[in-house]
Amino acid sequence: MQNFPTSLLTGYRSFMTGRYVDERDRYRHLAEQGQKPQTMVVACCDSRAAPETIFDCGPGELFVLRNVANMVPPYEPDGQYHSTSAALEFAVQSLKVEDIIIMGHGRCGGIRAALDPNAEPLAPGDFIGKWMNLVRPAAEQIQNASVLTDTERQTAMERISIRNSIENLRTFPYVRALEEEGKLKIHGAWFDISNGELWIMDPESLDFRRLDP
Ligand SMILES: [Zn+2]
Repeated sequence: MQNFPTSLLTGYRSFMTGRYVDERDRYRHLAEQGQKPQTMVVACCDSRAAPETIFDCGPGELFVLRNVANMVPPYEPDGQYHSTSAALEFAVQSLKVEDIIIMGHGRCGGIRAALDPNAEPLAPGDFIGKWMNLVRPAAEQIQNASVLTDTERQTAMERISIRNSIENLRTFPYVRALEEEGKLKIHGAWFDISNGELWIMDPESLDFRRLDP
């Protein structure tokens, strides 16, 4: 207890006397009945892009998966450790979520690392370089687009990565089947941490459009 971060202890006490009191019945209901979230969100680990905060959701509403740069790998049942695919399988097969949102964000360190493997704060390390290989082909094309500024490259890559993850999502046989049956919808979104703007991907044009607050 002594070493537990003080700010979190304070936060927990505030939660128990505030929000938990308001939502106590909901927690009890969810404990007894189990969770039945309608939506899965794949978001980045970045501390500034928490889906529950951005979408103002309470307990039981969102099934959230967070990883570096909010990416979904392709379907690869090869016996390796696939934490993202495991969470996806659980959400789709067991919870039967009806919507999956891939939510990227501005100033993403993972995406920066894909564009510049030596960039701070994310160095390739033992795992990140390999993980970011998921978007390597697109990153190389963007790196070579000399007409773009660094900021434009970064934003473009963040959005291309979302589209790439959506393509990978569709390599999971049950995802594709449920989507074709109209039982599962897949969405792309991009959150601008600097001003709170949320941009939604148009399913036809694949362009991102700012949502009117
Ligand atoms: Zn990020």
